[in-house]
Amino acid sequence: MQKNHNFKNALHNPVFNTVSKATSNLSLESYVIGGFVRDYILKRGDAKDIDIVAVGSGIDLSQEVSRLLPGKPKVSIFKNYGTAMLKTGGIELEFVGARKESYTEDSRNPAVENGTLEDDQNRRDFTINALAISLNEMTFGDLLDPFDGMQDIDDKIIRTPLDPDVTYSDDPLRMMRAIRFATQLDFTIEKKSLNAITKNADRIKIISKERIVDELHKILGSKVPSIGFSLLHKTGLLPYIMPELVALQGIDEKEGQRHKDNFWHTLEVVDNIARATDDVWLRWAALLHDIGKAPTKRFDKKIGWTFHAHEFVGSKMVYKLFKRLKMPLNEKMKFVQKMVLMSSRPIVLASEVTDSAVRRLVFDAGEHVEDLMTLCEADITTKNPKKFKKYHNNFKLVRDKIVEVEERDHVRNFQPPVSGEEIMTTFGLKPSREIGLIKDAIKEAILEGDIPNEYKAAKEFMIKKGEELGLTIAQ
Ligand code: ATP
Repeated sequence: MQKNHNFKNALHNPVFNTVSKATSNLSLESYVIGGFVRDYILKRGDAKDIDIVAVGSGIDLSQEVSRLLPGKPKVSIFKNYGTAMLKTGGIELEFVGARKESYTEDSRNPAVENGTLEDDQNRRDFTINALAISLNEMTFGDLLDPFDGMQDIDDKIIRTPLDPDVTYSDDPLRMMRAIRFATQLDFTIEKKSLNAITKNADRIKIISKERIVDELHKILGSKVPSIGFSLLHKTGLLPYIMPELVALQGIDEKEGQRHKDNFWHTLEVVDNIARATDDVWLRWAALLHDIGKAPTKRFDKKIGWTFHAHEFVGSKMVYKLFKRLKMPLNEKMKFVQKMVLMSSRPIVLASEVTDSAVRRLVFDAGEHVEDLMTLCEADITTKNPKKFKKYHNNFKLVRDKIVEVEERDHVRNFQPPVSGEEIMTTFGLKPSREIGLIKDAIKEAILEGDIPNEYKAAKEFMIKKGEELGLTIAQ
């Protein structure tokens, strides 16, 4: 790996020359640090968030940079944190004064005092996040790597600059960040660090739910999310975050009958779905699709292990889990609930693909029917190649049938072809139970395939149904 290399190439964006000039004007020192440097070395593309640390006032530096930039972009100042931010040419520049931090037991917010660049690098979470590149005129582009972060990037290791026990205890969010970076970058967390996370797991309680969820989103958004969830499990963090998932772990045996380990199965499903979609909410649905299985698990002498109504129970648990984690209780949550609730529907179908069953599936899943199929395909984790192929082929048939039924019957966004209004005028009715009965009967007839989803057929059916109910056509 290149050491003592000059990193001028990383600073090709002219904004760095501007920061350098502003730094000279104020007789300060400044460095670009953290994610930007890490991602440049990892060739992850140019980060859009750039962190600049000034030895001196970060706020003053931001204002001088703004003065030198065309259009003098607005500077947002966060006095309490001693930081400032400005946006220019599609990037966000964050400025902070170099600082020294000291922590207390009950908060992740440290007392801060001004410090040197070394102090500031010491307070960074990981060696790979402590790399800095000089923006000072005389040393422009020089890398400052006091903790061998370059070597750790080369070795793909997450390591803390200081004693990991102190690092994680000071700010327990770093435990989530370590696991998140390990997942995103496919790095290994150094053994000492992993032990320290395990030891400090209960400290996660002082971290806000929102912060935890931010990290969970990033883990779920990674290429192989199971890396993160198995680390959360292994370190003992998961019980504090999602005990519902932990409850899925383990295999029970009774009278020689075993069920699968639904925790490890879930992680496989999440990895499968991550290969099929970037939609983080569909990935959430995969993560939670079996959570109802722990509370519904029963052993029946005749049929073995059952998880009766686990989809329904699971969808209720989704609400509680979202609420507890302070996640949005909006249409995203409803989407996840719906996916969990319907997660077994296509499986039942795969053994016998009838038109009417597919029509009902499309009717119930509505615009989310493809997502549901994606979830069900990801749910196939059998290690038996014959079964694997058979299940996938069956789902392919279901997908083809969905297209066919859709083209013909248009039930996805079903609107009753005959309105309640028309039923009332036809039979001279006031709002009453009969109208509901007739409407339901029309819907059922369409879904069963007894009549096409068209006005004329539905009207004839309505009249027939009305007569059956003893109604007469109004003149
Ligand atoms: P990403 O943009 O992928 O989240 P990042 O490393 O840029 O990665 P930020 O949260 O923007 O993440 O943090 C910027 C830098 O600030 C980090 O690289 C790290 O040096 C430092 N940092 C952030 N959070 C912490 C923390 N909790 N403890 C110590 N240092 C931190």
